[in-house]
Amino acid sequence: MAKRKFKTEVNQLLHLIIHSLYSHKEIFLRELISNSSDALDKMKHLTLTEDKFKDLDFDPRIDISFDENEKTLTVSDTGIGMSKDDLVEHISTIARSGTKSFVEQLSGDNKKDSNLIGQFGVGFYSSFMVADKVEIITRKAGEEIASKWVSDGQGEYDLSDAERDCAGTTITLFLNDNGKEYSQKWSIENVIKKYSNHISFPIFLHYEDTVFEGEGETKEQKKEQKKEQKVDQVNEASALWKRSKQDLKAKDYNEFYKTISHDQEDPLLYTHTQAEGTLDYTTLFYIPKKAPIDMYRADYKPGVKLYVKRVFITDDEKELMPSYLRFVRGIIDSEDLPLNVSREILQQNVVLEKIKSSSVKKVLSELKTLSQDKEKYVEFYKEYGRPLKEGLYQDFTNKEALSEL
Ligand code: ADP
Repeated sequence: MAKRKFKTEVNQLLHLIIHSLYSHKEIFLRELISNSSDALDKMKHLTLTEDKFKDLDFDPRIDISFDENEKTLTVSDTGIGMSKDDLVEHISTIARSGTKSFVEQLSGDNKKDSNLIGQFGVGFYSSFMVADKVEIITRKAGEEIASKWVSDGQGEYDLSDAERDCAGTTITLFLNDNGKEYSQKWSIENVIKKYSNHISFPIFLHYEDTVFEGEGETKEQKKEQKKEQKVDQVNEASALWKRSKQDLKAKDYNEFYKTISHDQEDPLLYTHTQAEGTLDYTTLFYIPKKAPIDMYRADYKPGVKLYVKRVFITDDEKELMPSYLRFVRGIIDSEDLPLNVSREILQQNVVLEKIKSSSVKKVLSELKTLSQDKEKYVEFYKEYGRPLKEGLYQDFTNKEALSEL
């Protein structure tokens, strides 16, 4: 095992998360499940598009287990997994754009910093709010060797070889006093239901149940007790955006927003479109209350994910929205695109071009509606007035709508 040191920013970030997000400690589970869901999305895409993975027996799922005596909680997925390099790059360094400058903005004043962190996805590191030690065992799709990453979140981590049956990632939290309730079934179940019900892959909870056997009708009369291992699926596992709008409440939309954006707050607004006719597609867009921290960076991370027939295609395509709407978060799901669309095809695809143009009109019309509520609109304009003005020079088709806004 080799001991390695975290980058300074990771230490600063860890310190901040642990000290300022105490009141929301349960979100760590949402973050882990949402990472697993992303990893499953990527794996599914591979099995559908790459010959090497086409015959793979892929059973997409997230499994959660716990041990009340040992005070551990384990989240395991059959997703794309990570190589050793990925572990160093993605988990032990802060690679995400904007994060470094985010950490630089920190003042050391806990109250101010807590506000800031609300705008920032804390991700995997939030595990250290509830755990003294975190262990990751992961194997990347297509690789034979798995790796193990262990850290107590105090500046160092260990990295070594390991074994794992199939590709995917298993994360075990050794819970601290603050997190010990998450080695209990009811509390894990509560958090999953609250935050991750609409994750589109099944989440299974493993637990031990006591069954009563022997003579008699009632539990009391039956003498023999037996422990039995049980597994329940705890979420609905249907893609939220494909469900009928009538069945969805604001609460459902807001929770889903938090799983895709890593934002801690509800969005300012959302808009859900299920179009049928010449083109079949679904879009679900959100505008965050606070501007994303990387909004003014050239290497900003795009906020809209592309799906084709519910299969994840990409979350790294800036062309899905014009750059003046780069703060929009959400999903485009098309029934009319091929699954193995390449980047080049995407950029000049007529179907996508049409979806994009309707999407922009939709977002702008939602903003027009918002402008009737002066107080809310001022709040919006303070955050996004500047990028919106860029639109005047970029988007001549919607110039009028933009200048009104
Ligand atoms: P974020 O999810 O916002 O990128 P995280 O700190 O939560 O930030 O995760 C960092 C990166 O680590 C992810 O982007 C992903 O590349 C990788 N990762 C985390 N969890 C998993 C997982 N279960 N399977 C595969 N990769 C993962």
